[in-house]
Amino acid sequence: MSREKITPDITQKETVKISEISEENILDCLQCSKCTAGCPAIHGMDILPHQVIRLLQLGQVDKLLNSETIWSCASCFTCASRCPRDVDISKLMEALRLMVIRVKGSNKLKVEKIPKLLQKNMPQQGIVSGFRKYVK
Ligand code: SF4
Ligand code: SF4
Repeated sequence: MSREKITPDITQKETVKISEISEENILDCLQCSKCTAGCPAIHGMDILPHQVIRLLQLGQVDKLLNSETIWSCASCFTCASRCPRDVDISKLMEALRLMVIRVKGSNKLKVEKIPKLLQKNMPQQGIVSGFRKYVK
């Protein structure tokens, strides 16, 4: 089986922007996964918190901008409190959300989507956080 060579790319424009907005150093992460182990919102995520920062390290921002994960994060700071490297993933999630909102010019959460989100056991914190993003 051949191995794919993975080359970190933190020089990409989007990755630099995420670092600037969040003021987090994505290279501090050592991929221990403690953030994911403590996250209360992973059942609504298609990319896990430690994978979010890994994709950022690899410069694969597009995958994150199109993910459910950034909208499922409840900004509860559990990940930040557990991280041995003082990385605050909630700030990175917020930076990614801002990037989507700025690029697309609209917010993600629509009122008509809420019943479906509740069926998926979305944590109440997630709904409240989502409402902060809601505009008519
Ligand atoms: S807990 Fe911190 S160091 Fe560990 S994977 Fe998460 S962000 Fe990286
Ligand atoms: S801030 Fe977001 S990613 Fe971090 S533990 Fe809370 S819900 Fe999970």
